[in-house]
Amino acid sequence: MNSSVELPSGAAVSAAEHHRVVILGSGPGGLTAAVYAARANLKPVVVSGNEPGGQLTITTEVENYPGYPDGVQGPEMMTDFQRQAERFGTQFKSGNVARVDLSRRPFTLHLENGETLRCDALIVATGASARWLNLESETRLRNRGVSACATCDGFFFRGKPLAVVGGGDTAMEEALFLTNFATKVTVVHRRDELRASKVMQERAFKHPKIEFAWDATVEEVLGSPEQGVSGLKLKNVKTGALSELPVQGVFVAIGHTPNTDVFKGQLAMDDQGYLQVSPGRTYASVEGVFVCGDAADKVYRQAVTAAGTGCMAAIDAERWLAEQGLE
Ligand code: NAP
Repeated sequence: MNSSVELPSGAAVSAAEHHRVVILGSGPGGLTAAVYAARANLKPVVVSGNEPGGQLTITTEVENYPGYPDGVQGPEMMTDFQRQAERFGTQFKSGNVARVDLSRRPFTLHLENGETLRCDALIVATGASARWLNLESETRLRNRGVSACATCDGFFFRGKPLAVVGGGDTAMEEALFLTNFATKVTVVHRRDELRASKVMQERAFKHPKIEFAWDATVEEVLGSPEQGVSGLKLKNVKTGALSELPVQGVFVAIGHTPNTDVFKGQLAMDDQGYLQVSPGRTYASVEGVFVCGDAADKVYRQAVTAAGTGCMAAIDAERWLAEQGLE
């Protein structure tokens, strides 16, 4: 929907494209919203974001997404999602949004490539990113024994000793979940007390398969892409002593960061940056903005829950546009 404006001088300048619905993000939330919005004839535009396809594109096998009885590779699944959205006329734009103005409608979105979009309804599906330790060895062995999601990957580590890095609720939850598969789970934490809630701490302390490596940071993940992870080189932060922990998988659970910086000061969010939505709905704090997926979810963070809220966001947006007479 390109338009141009005639200036009095006769020179034409390109005005911002106007769309009924723009979806920011192309993970399971954004692409499900696109399928629903496109089938409602809203001609949505998806701005793919920094990580097209979302977090699933950095994972390997997905076995817990319904409808794939034999499992599916994460990137392949996201290609399927995209093809389905395209089939009904979704338009895709690569790149990221740099700045938004949600103070008046239509909303204005400035993309990093200099393009400007305007939209009546905005669906935010920008997701969250797992935090990593930022070690070269960690990056090299990601999906070769290094993971940030026990629910996704724990199943592949049956009968193996594992480590979880972190001392928060997520780390305790991951460690407890992994005891279903592992021979032993060692929680590696950089301090001598946990950040996790008391109830989660007690559950972890009581579990016979969970041990703790206190005051320890990971210096290196040992192993090779061919053989997988063979251990962790740990450093005691108090004594400086180095040690090796033999494990065959490591789960990094040091938190997630929602990709919501661009909305600071414009949409209500909690102190960690997760966007606030009205209970059971996808309405953000600004009318006409809808949120789905991990950008508003620090609890479930699953592809299927993101897809579910993506569907909800598109239906909420469609109904809201109809109420405004903007169908
Ligand atoms: P979190 O509470 O921020 O904890 C992150 C943990 O990782 C902390 O123990 C932190 O150590 C450690 N850490 C951070 N950066 C590190 C680094 N570079 N190297 C080593 N360790 C590092 O994050 P979360 O556990 O993901 O929880 C996020 C929020 O979700 C919390 O509010 C939590 O209560 C909530 N949550 C609740 C549940 C539940 O209730 N079942 C489950 C999951 C999450 P320090 O302690 O030293 O800072």
